[in-house]
Amino acid sequence: MSIFRALMATQVEGKTQIAFQETSIDQLPPGDVLVKVAFSSLNYKDGICVTGKPGVMRSFPMVPGIDLVGTVVDSATPEFVAGDSVVLTGGGLAETQWGGYAEYAKVRKDFLVNLPAGLTSKRAMAIGTAGFTAMQCVLALEKQGVKPGGKEVVVTGAGGGVGSIAVAVLAKLGYKVVASTGRAETHDYLSRLGAVEVIDRSVLSAESKRPLDAERFGGAVDTVGGATLAGVLRSIAYRGAVAACGLAGGTGLATTVLPFILRGVTLVGIDSVRAPQEERIEVWGRLASDLSLDVLDSMTEVKPLSEIVALGEQILSGQIRGRVVVDVSE
Ligand code: NDP
Repeated sequence: MSIFRALMATQVEGKTQIAFQETSIDQLPPGDVLVKVAFSSLNYKDGICVTGKPGVMRSFPMVPGIDLVGTVVDSATPEFVAGDSVVLTGGGLAETQWGGYAEYAKVRKDFLVNLPAGLTSKRAMAIGTAGFTAMQCVLALEKQGVKPGGKEVVVTGAGGGVGSIAVAVLAKLGYKVVASTGRAETHDYLSRLGAVEVIDRSVLSAESKRPLDAERFGGAVDTVGGATLAGVLRSIAYRGAVAACGLAGGTGLATTVLPFILRGVTLVGIDSVRAPQEERIEVWGRLASDLSLDVLDSMTEVKPLSEIVALGEQILSGQIRGRVVVDVSE
């Protein structure tokens, strides 16, 4: 019976409490595959969990951590065998299934993917849900016919995890990327990731009395929502597309139908959590080929799990730049 450390969320009189606990493999809830976790990562949703806020964890006790990478120890399915390197993002982790902020996890096979050749486990978590979602957004734009060589593509919340990886991938694919950020100190960083121009977030989120602005962008990856997404929609050119995945700036959307009916703009919703296996394999494959590993390394920090609560507060207040890999052994 192997004893290990896990970050555990419990509810006491309706309030969520977060603390490290010792637990054992026997106490893990049922799953198809037992994984020795090497790394997890830090995403916006992890910030919500580890600060005890509602909205993500749907049962208790719960181990937070929406991502994990590690080695299969035991498997009840022939699709995975002991020794396989596997990665799991979303798929109910930290919602209904115990997640990656522990040294072991038992997971469902449905959303588990073999680590693509050429990616180390640390880099897989530098990508994590954020990078997975960024690539889903890029694929969505491609499917809508947004091509390199056309008009600029804007990425909002560009200094964050999803935004940084979206900028890097789009730039590597040859798109002219405009990065929108609220942090002046990230301008050089975003240029190094490949943005041709960096704009202040107020440009897109400013109130406008006009339903349509100049047709500047051929496409957009929006991680912010709210007034920013409304501004993006006003600025998309004829037959352009927006991949909307986030709510860092709000869940509301005050817009008109005019971008859709006069410019034929497409608004594509992106969900990473329940993405089916087939799509996951495609997305990881594209990440392995279309994301420069040097650029990925330059946006990544590794932090110990022991610091996770403070890191969670930082990501919710928009202070984390790029990606944080979480070492669950520290
Ligand atoms: P991060 O915190 O790393 O990035 C969010 C970025 O949004 C910040 O860095 C900041 O960028 C910008 N931002 C923060 N607060 C505000 C604000 N009040 N107004 C405008 N911009 C703001 O988070 P992630 O990259 O992990 O996630 C980004 C968003 O995408 C989140 O809302 C998250 O929930 C969502 N998401 C959705 C997924 C899905 O499956 N649909 C999967 C993954 C994430 P800057 O400082 O550059 O302006």
